[in-house]
Amino acid sequence: MSTPTPRPRATVATIPAYVPGRPPAAREGMTTYKLSSNENPFPPLPGVVEAVARAAEQMNRYPDMGCVALYDALATRLDVAPQQLAAGTGSVAVLYHLLQAYCDPGDEVVFAWRSFEAYPIAASVGGAVAVQVPVTADGRHDLDAMATAVGERTKVVLLCTPNNPTGPALTHGEVAGFLDRVPGHVLVVLDEAYREFVRMDDPLDALALTRQRPNVVVMRTFAKAYGLAGLRVGYLVGSVEVATAVRACSLPFGVSSIAQAAAVASLAAEDELLERVEKIVAERSRVTAALAEQGWQLPEAQGNFVWFPVGDRALELAAAAEEAGIVVRPFAGDGVRVSIGEPEANDRLVEVAGRSVN
Ligand SMILES: *Cc1c(COP(=O)(O)O)cnc(C)c1O
Repeated sequence: MSTPTPRPRATVATIPAYVPGRPPAAREGMTTYKLSSNENPFPPLPGVVEAVARAAEQMNRYPDMGCVALYDALATRLDVAPQQLAAGTGSVAVLYHLLQAYCDPGDEVVFAWRSFEAYPIAASVGGAVAVQVPVTADGRHDLDAMATAVGERTKVVLLCTPNNPTGPALTHGEVAGFLDRVPGHVLVVLDEAYREFVRMDDPLDALALTRQRPNVVVMRTFAKAYGLAGLRVGYLVGSVEVATAVRACSLPFGVSSIAQAAAVASLAAEDELLERVEKIVAERSRVTAALAEQGWQLPEAQGNFVWFPVGDRALELAAAAEEAGIVVRPFAGDGVRVSIGEPEANDRLVEVAGRSVN
């Protein structure tokens, strides 16, 4: 007779693995670059390292569980009440908490696919069922199909704009039209991780939608434009009811005092932030123009990354990039996502892509 052993919930075996962007291996005589995680190539904004050092002196104390300074700074910046905010260790954590708050086992979460790889993981961790609606050939959300996919058991819809990894963003009109078709009891999450990089007509004003509709929440992060990926802090903005429910499910003392201090200091350096974002957007334009010149027809890049929908050639393209000293993020059988990084790294991408175009 075998000894009984503890067993995780049955759904745990079905949780897909998160594949993080790899760091580059050191190469003799060659600078290597990491373009695999959509990180910000710039160092922390002015004042941030100092704020972090000051917070570090207090590391024997628990952080402020109420995140008061961070919520106050965000509330002022976004013109919302602090009670409309819920922070977490990255917006991925906020999503976990939100799904815990809103989904019973078997409830459905509708999202586009391919999209952010954390979505199916977060859904299954929460015991919810992921309903994946294929993106169109040009990497856009198929909002008609997504509205149709909303059913009896749907509790949450995730819209990722700009969509990671394919790149296009939704217009305000598109999102507003979609919301008209979704019942009021379904929570619609607008994941704006890359909002600072969007340059398009009729851009999404997600906060305006949260003011008009109690079933809309916005998720944002300090990990991308703000350059704090290593410190883990993100947040949502929504109605007081939603924010209260999400806070109730949050890990106590999750966001460290160091992350809170860094986020507050980063918000105070808005001018420098915008300057850096402009540089990344300019590099994106330079890269996408060069790729188009080479004959690539790629989805519209509205984030700090470009998407090569090369299907079966994904691993081959990633290997060629690695050979040139840039680590990119392949999704086997589907495509390759490459972050916009340092100009030298971007040059190498253009060079590799020029040899791989068919
Ligand atoms: C990077 C990213 C996030 C943010 O993740 P953090 O947990 O805040 O680091 C959220 N959504 C999308 C689509 C992303 O690409």
